[in-house]
Amino acid sequence: MIWYPYQQMKTMKDPYKIIDAEGVWLYTEDNRMIDSVSSWWSVIHGYKHPALTEAIRSQADRFSHVMLGGLTHDPVQKLSDKLENWLPGDLDCCFFSDSGSVAVEVALKMALQYYVNLGDQKRTKILSLTNAYHGDTFKTMEVGDDEDYHFILEAYGPSPSVIHVPTQIPALEKAFELCHEELNCMIVEPLLQGAGGMRMYELSFLKRARELCDQYGVLLIFDEVATGFGRTGHRFVADQVLPDILVLGKALTGGYIGHAVTVASRRVYNGFYDDDPNKALMHGPTFMGNALACSAALTSIELFEQEDYLSKIRRIEEITRREMEGFSDPRVREVRIMGGCVCIEVYDPSVLKGYQQFAYKRGVFSRPFLNYLYAMVPYVIQEGELVQVLQTAREWFQTGPSR
Ligand SMILES: *Cc1c(COP(=O)(O)O)cnc(C)c1O
Repeated sequence: MIWYPYQQMKTMKDPYKIIDAEGVWLYTEDNRMIDSVSSWWSVIHGYKHPALTEAIRSQADRFSHVMLGGLTHDPVQKLSDKLENWLPGDLDCCFFSDSGSVAVEVALKMALQYYVNLGDQKRTKILSLTNAYHGDTFKTMEVGDDEDYHFILEAYGPSPSVIHVPTQIPALEKAFELCHEELNCMIVEPLLQGAGGMRMYELSFLKRARELCDQYGVLLIFDEVATGFGRTGHRFVADQVLPDILVLGKALTGGYIGHAVTVASRRVYNGFYDDDPNKALMHGPTFMGNALACSAALTSIELFEQEDYLSKIRRIEEITRREMEGFSDPRVREVRIMGGCVCIEVYDPSVLKGYQQFAYKRGVFSRPFLNYLYAMVPYVIQEGELVQVLQTAREWFQTGPSR
């Protein structure tokens, strides 16, 4: 049997069984629906894209996977060259892994070992944000602050090595003032906190974080697993404020095969580059640099560039603002829009109960969580399809819930 994610198996309703998918559409036996969450924010080019399918197929004709321990191959070399050229600043050194959580683990390990390698054993603390989400493995849960995952705090108590601050500059300055001697790194989901509730904050906060990190020699890590590849309207938030380590996942392969990458600046890389074998980065996921995933990622990036995805995302934001204009409801706390993300936050989560089935009947797949009804659509969505997604949400508040 299948043990499904984030579900009480005893009370879970049957999942929709998908038999085919193309563009923004998911097909069940008797219905079709627009995937308004892009399979956890990853399928930016839509399903069954001919170029992505072909990239995987032609690589599979040669080989699907060889390990990077003592071996290398064209797809992984081409992808790392591409990322080195495409990413801002000196974010040049690509460490691949099979999921976003692992890539965040690698980023934290890099940051912690960086200072050990430099002979500084005092810097052991990690600064992170309230409502942060960085993955489901143990260290990522520890730096995270998502209500769904608080069992770890109840079971083990708050982590002595993680300090959480809200996305407000005075609180940030205070944390640096108090702890800078022990601070190793700061990790953030820049501009948009996803699983912690689609919370949006100002670029000025990140600019100040960069200044403080420079002032006190603290490494800045951007977890752009969700925000990367245009979701905030920026290609990467790292284009605006340069981190020392950047983590990408989800849309890296266009959502076709799980893969992620931790990209280090030259400075971080040089902290490991030495004759001493003890200064090496001791990590190596079995499927890092998977050839099918790298081929898909390379093609995904080419599509992103050639078809001017940033203008597609601007259009999505414009249509979203237009369609949500004038929308208000006493049960709604706030409507937030940024790039290719829209979130309707309600006061009471029970208001969203039944929405998934309501949307299904109207040809939209949606997966609200807690107090958040959101959409992060594939960038290839047509105007009419996007309007359908947004109107379905508005209609729910007009006719849906019986109160
Ligand atoms: C989804 C996500 C992760 C975890 O990625 P997985 O591939 O699910 O392990 C980490 N950080 C952020 C910001 C995410 O949204």
